[in-house]
Amino acid sequence: MPEALLRVNELRKDFVVGPMFRRKTVQAIRGVSFVLNKGETLGLVGESGCGKSTTGRAAIRLIEPSSGSIEYDGVDLASVGARDMRRLRQDLQIIFQDPYASLDPRMTVEQILTEPLGIQKIGTSAERRERVMDIIAEVGLQAAHAARYPHEFSGGQRQRIGIARSLILNPKMIVADEPVSALDVSVQAQIINLMQDVKAKHGMSYIFISHDLSVVKHICDRVAVMYLGEVVETASRDALYEEPLHPYTKALMSAIPGRRGAQKRITLKGDIPSPASPPRGCAFHTRCPSAMAICKTTPPQAIETGGRKVACHLYN
Ligand code: SF4
Repeated sequence: MPEALLRVNELRKDFVVGPMFRRKTVQAIRGVSFVLNKGETLGLVGESGCGKSTTGRAAIRLIEPSSGSIEYDGVDLASVGARDMRRLRQDLQIIFQDPYASLDPRMTVEQILTEPLGIQKIGTSAERRERVMDIIAEVGLQAAHAARYPHEFSGGQRQRIGIARSLILNPKMIVADEPVSALDVSVQAQIINLMQDVKAKHGMSYIFISHDLSVVKHICDRVAVMYLGEVVETASRDALYEEPLHPYTKALMSAIPGRRGAQKRITLKGDIPSPASPPRGCAFHTRCPSAMAICKTTPPQAIETGGRKVACHLYN
């Protein structure tokens, strides 16, 4: 029986945007629930703007959720104070899409990797240096790289530094936010393999955020599909790719190039609606090829079927 590490329940995040007197509220995530098990990689997938990055960041309180609960290893993260959150930050790390933007250009690799150890008051300076050199080797960089600055590296090497920084505190879970989408295809496989190797060695859990379903299939154990700030389907990787249930998941799967046994491509009508005014009823009804009258008025509840969850009136 898998053991839960993180339980996210009815998580919401609103942003107020726009100039004074014309402010509006954008509902970036609207009641997202999922469980991340120990040692598991959970994929969060969906089109750009579906709220997957906001969900990943809110789940480890890099941004403050508007409401909902987050239980991490038995601790209610939403009610933890700043000091305890700083201690928990050791366990909860993130890898960003663009490592260049997230690495301080004035710091060497050694300084970048030593900084979190200093903040957490871990080890003597000799022990910190030893830890930094171990991690540098583990992510496939060379000892001489420790004295270099981020601009001296390629995109793939910079992402190795980003991974090293996420590992330096020996975390229990890492949110990987589109970690390979800014890289060349040839480098993507190297970084994915590195992420799998470090997971096999350290046993942490990943939330892997991506719009690329081919990459997700390669690395994830389970997948949650998001649309307009909601999770519409959650299933094991194999179940989801072999038999997607939700019409949105079916459309995403039909667009994977060269998918075995694939049906013909389902082209969705129109653009994803604005999260500032999501459609009533099922948020997908404006684009859904299977929409019925009830879909325009009544939001579907997520139901469990065959060990997976789907939110669609076709299955209620
Ligand atoms: Fe389509 Fe209706 Fe299901 Fe929404 S609830 S996905 S509109 S069939």
